[in-house]
Parts: sequence; C-alpha cells; structure tokens
Amino acid sequence: MEKASYTDMWENLNLDIEAHEGLLEVLGKFYGDIYMSQQGRLQGMEYLDFVLSEVHGLRIQELVDAQKQGRKIIGTFCVFVPEELTLAVDAIQVGLCAGADAGTEAAETVVPRNTCALIKSFIGFKMAKICPYTESCDLIIGETTCDGKKKAYEAFGEMAPMYVMEIPQRKEASDRELWKAEVMRYKEKLEKLTGKTITAETLKKSIKTVNDKRRALQRLNTLRAAVPTPISGRDVLLINQVSFYDDPVRFTNSINALCDQIEERIAKSEGIVPEKTPRLMLAGCPMAVPNWKLPYIVESSGAVVVSEESCIGTRNSRDLVDESAETVEEMIDAICDRYMKIDCACFTPNNERLENITKLAKETKVDGVIHYSLMFCQPYTHETFKVEKALADSEVPMLAIETDYSMEDVEQLKTRVEAFVEIIS
Ligand code: SF4
Ligand code: SF4
Repeated sequence: MEKASYTDMWENLNLDIEAHEGLLEVLGKFYGDIYMSQQGRLQGMEYLDFVLSEVHGLRIQELVDAQKQGRKIIGTFCVFVPEELTLAVDAIQVGLCAGADAGTEAAETVVPRNTCALIKSFIGFKMAKICPYTESCDLIIGETTCDGKKKAYEAFGEMAPMYVMEIPQRKEASDRELWKAEVMRYKEKLEKLTGKTITAETLKKSIKTVNDKRRALQRLNTLRAAVPTPISGRDVLLINQVSFYDDPVRFTNSINALCDQIEERIAKSEGIVPEKTPRLMLAGCPMAVPNWKLPYIVESSGAVVVSEESCIGTRNSRDLVDESAETVEEMIDAICDRYMKIDCACFTPNNERLENITKLAKETKVDGVIHYSLMFCQPYTHETFKVEKALADSEVPMLAIETDYSMEDVEQLKTRVEAFVEIIS
C-alpha cells in the first residue's frame, strides 16, 4: 500500500497513524506468508490481492468520496442487517468484524476479559484508533444476537454512533412478527438518516444486487466442490471476507470472472492440490480479516478446506430473497423470510444448522469437519456437541477446536490438526 498518499485521509479520520502503520505492516507480512506463498493460484485472485492491498487505502478513499457526495456509510457486525434496505437508500454497507489481536488491553477496560476475541477486537480497533472503516461510518448497526455482543454494544455506543436491532432467538410466528417490526424500524431509521424514501423501484433493484452477489458466491461454492478442488480454502475465505467490504456490483463481476477461470481449470481436471488430498469443512464462528490462522494451519498440514459453514462462508450466501414481489410491503416480507432462515447459534432450538452442516458435508464430499469456536463464545461452543453427534450419525469425523486470535497456540493446534488429518486420510 502506498502509505504516503493516504496519510492525510487517515489523519482526517482521526486514526493513530503510528499504531495504524504498525497494523498494516503486520497485516502485509501475514498476507505475504499465508497467501502469496501459495503455488498455482488462479489469475483472478490478483483482484482479491489488490483489494486487500488497498483495503485501508483506495476503498476508504471511495467511502470518503461517496460521503462527500452525500451518501451515508453503515457499519455492521452481523449478517442479520439487511443490506437490501441499506442499498435502497443509496447508502454503503461495510462489515466491521475484526480478526486481529489489537487493542485488546484497552478493550478489557470496558468489557470483561472472558469476552470472545471478535468482540474485543472490534472494540480494541476503535479504542486504538486503527480501523478506518469504523471511523468512516455515519451509523453502526448492532444486533441482539449473543449476550456478549449485546452488552458490548452498550460500551461501544458510548464511542460511536450506534443503532441496535433486536434479533429473535426462536423461529415461531411471534418471532417473525418481531423481526418484521425490526426490519421496518431499520427502514425508517435509514430513511431518516438519508432523507430518502425506499420505493418499490429502489428496493427491487437492491434485492437483485444483493442476490447477484449471493449467486456469484453460490456459483463459487458449487465449483470448488469439484474433485480435485480448483481453489484453496484460504482463497475462498478471503473472497467471503472481501464480500463485506467491496462494492457489491464490482465484487460480483470479479467473482463471476474468477468462476469462469475455475470452470476452465475443472475442464482440464486441474486442482490446487492433488486429487487424494483430504478434504475438510470448517464450521462455526465467523473468521474476520485477518483471522487466517486455522485455514493456514489446516492447509499446511496436508489437507484442503473445501467449505466454510459460517457467516463469513455459506450461511451468508445460501438463501436468496424471493424476487417476485412487486410492492414495498411484499418485498419487506420476502426480506424477512429470507433472513429468518439464518441458522446462527444464537437461535434455540437450532436444528436447521445441524441439517445444513450434514448436507454441506455431503455436497462438498468432505472427509472430515473442523468445528471452530472462539474462546468464550457460548452459542457456538454449546452447539459443538450437537454438531459432533449429527456428523457422527452421518459417519463424518469431527475435530473441535477452541481458540482465539493469538499465535500462542499455533504449534499445539498444528499437532492436533495433523493428527486428525492422518486419521481421516
Ligand atoms: S454468527 Fe450469528 S451473530 Fe455472528 S454474524 Fe452470524 S448471525 Fe450474526
Ligand atoms: S463469536 Fe460467539 S460470542 Fe463472539 S460475537 Fe460471535 S456469537 Fe457472540
């Protein structure tokens, strides 16, 4: 990244320039070691490399320029926030989940130590003034998913402009009603913030834009299930991560172009790894940039990741919004129905997730599953037991891993992953 050309912009965003440069340096080195060291990557990944190299530069410049033209920037931490509504008022939605051990000490002055790394990371990024996305936002949307997040937003709300959506915890008719009321409340909030009214025309267009993004990711997920797999798990994780930052139309076009290349590779029976390489699915907590620790460990232990069951994975692209609705009310209903299919571990009961995991394991022909929970994440750690049982019933071996963003356990994790890979080989 050409730091010099963006320093003024970062200063205007009130970043701590020195701390931010330290983060970019670590990020650059980490990316070089984990991504650029791969052999036989598809040419289309150059686009992703470029986006990542400019993730705090050019993309932030685009956001700042959009703001100058009167557009609003909306930050989110959860796939429950309907991007369709955000786009329908010509605002830009960006993900703020953070995946690095930075600002943790500061974060622990406002949230308990036994809070998951994802929460401590986004609070730490804010307190250390190192995230240009957080600093660019006109409004940040929280949600009442897990207890950790909903209490953390009380502290975060004292540092940033926050709005919290209530997310149901069950899937009864009354929960659907609550969710629709929340979607309507978000619609009104956006209209007030932007001074724009959502019309059937703008909403229809944004539903199509977000569906197109999901369709491109679905296409990618179908193609990568080929044997031998044509693309590494690390690269697909990166694509899913970038889907939360990039312009949706540009992203969709780039991923479709990449899929064209993947089809050519499959036609020639070429893989990123030899055909017999053990295939794994990662399931569980989302992995935000630059949390590439576990996929890197897996893929340097003789296995390849062919599916991710998480919100930075198939959960975010699996279901589309029905495009046949014509009125705003009908479209809001279609949006509500689609989002109620999200099988986050914050729901009880959450049997759909078990069905979806076993189905995905079969579709992507995996030899085993690694269930990943962040330490102190109650919802996903609890579900580990049920997932293991459901997979055992389908004769799919599973390894449960609990970790955080630190590098201290890398060697220990590598030993466990290597042993698991040996068992399933
Ligand atoms: S795991 Fe749950 S809380 Fe986290 S982004 Fe997904 S839906 Fe939201
Ligand atoms: S990882 Fe778990 S505890 Fe952390 S925010 Fe997500 S659901 Fe909550």
